[in-house]
Amino acid sequence: MFAQVEVRLISRQHQEFVTDQAAVYLQRLQQFELEPRMINLLMSERRRAYPWIGANIDRVNQALYEHLVTCQECFFPANRCAVSILAAPIGPEWGIDGFCNVRVDPSMILVDVGRIVPTDWLKLVAHEYAHAMIGSAGHASEYAAILKHLCLGLGFTWDEQWRSENNRLQTYPPCISTLDPIAFWRGDSDF
Ligand SMILES: [Zn+2]
Repeated sequence: MFAQVEVRLISRQHQEFVTDQAAVYLQRLQQFELEPRMINLLMSERRRAYPWIGANIDRVNQALYEHLVTCQECFFPANRCAVSILAAPIGPEWGIDGFCNVRVDPSMILVDVGRIVPTDWLKLVAHEYAHAMIGSAGHASEYAAILKHLCLGLGFTWDEQWRSENNRLQTYPPCISTLDPIAFWRGDSDF
């Protein structure tokens, strides 16, 4: 019986530890926001999301880091840019899957991995990496040249037609959205 009490105590302590870890992590992300409160989880979701984030965020960020390295490898070392990447729950009211903050040094890519199916994460990272390469949020010809290079290097289709339809590169390469972005952060997905 004592052993059971002890296990429950350790389990509760662990739960509190990972919850605190998540709070620290999310607070750290705020320094990379483009606008205040972009990184935001509904209060009602936090009770379930925080323990999952605390226990799993390193694994998620490792996967993103590997995608970032894959993008870097499409360029000669001298031409690569300094950039970091982290997963972040972006408030749904912003309507974006990710962004690259080029105002910080090194640039920081934040992606809401809950909004895109894991098999398309690399596409999203490539889109944001191209922003890091040009150092701006625009989608004009300089951006198009970098994104095209990445798409060809990574084996993604490059669709000139898509590009020419007034700034449609904002959503290129196309990614499959998830039905419930918060489900990922609650730990209700397969990742
Ligand atoms: Zn973009």
